Amino acid sequence: MITFVGAGPGDPDLITIKGRKALEKADIIIYAGSLVSPEHLAHAKEGCEIYNSAKMHLDEVLDVMVEGHRAGKEIVRLHTGDPSIYGAIQEQMDPLEKLGIEFEVIPGVSSFVAAAAAIKKEFTLPNVSQTVILTRVKGRTGVPESENLESLAAHGASMALFLSVGHIEKVIESLIKGYGRDDVPVAVVYRATWKDEKKIFGTLKDICQKVQDENIIKQAQILVGDFIDTDYELSKLYDKYFTTEYREGIKR
Ligand code: SAH
Repeated sequence: MITFVGAGPGDPDLITIKGRKALEKADIIIYAGSLVSPEHLAHAKEGCEIYNSAKMHLDEVLDVMVEGHRAGKEIVRLHTGDPSIYGAIQEQMDPLEKLGIEFEVIPGVSSFVAAAAAIKKEFTLPNVSQTVILTRVKGRTGVPESENLESLAAHGASMALFLSVGHIEKVIESLIKGYGRDDVPVAVVYRATWKDEKKIFGTLKDICQKVQDENIIKQAQILVGDFIDTDYELSKLYDKYFTTEYREGIKR
């Protein structure tokens, strides 16, 4: 069996129990060494073969999987955060599918939720935003023109930007145009849940300088939106006058 596992954002305790169990059983682990903590490997059993995919290309990764599978081995492919977001897993799963090799995917804690936890904020506040946009700016990988940052920001929704802090100036310029104001709160969270985590708060007006002063050029989430700093209405869910499926509301 081949199992794709989300390792979580950094702290090795943020993997799921199911993911940890898969690691403990694996005969082969292929881990994304650039952002997966090597501490996860302490849970590998003795004699487990370990590969760092940061040093491999796609065909090499697939060869290890396919050969391991043919030899009847348990294989774990360990990805950072959740594998379905910028994980490049489709291109691994499709060839396996074609070869008729079975695999499973175990989700993980993505860095965008780890970043929200680090700053102790909720993306979805009543009357502020009920939508979270996950996106990135163009790097070596392109982004479809219909998803350009300015047009996404025009929704005024909560946003989490992956893979973008290296282009912070360009990012902020587009966000100001899209949101239509420069006082929108921003939090940049560098290496959320790692020991060297850093949190930088500001607005679209001043965040660029602050991020540059801290010399942050990678491994960060850029969280943007009024959810970071605003007044909001209380939820209906816990409103004492509100009746739900589980609870009778108090009569006024
Ligand atoms: N699948 C991963 C994302 C991989 S893309 C996930 O679900 O989180 C890599 C990008 O994710 C980085 O450039 C950075 O923007 C973000 N990232 C990953 N780990 C992070 C962390 N611990 N703190 C902040 N951002 C992180």
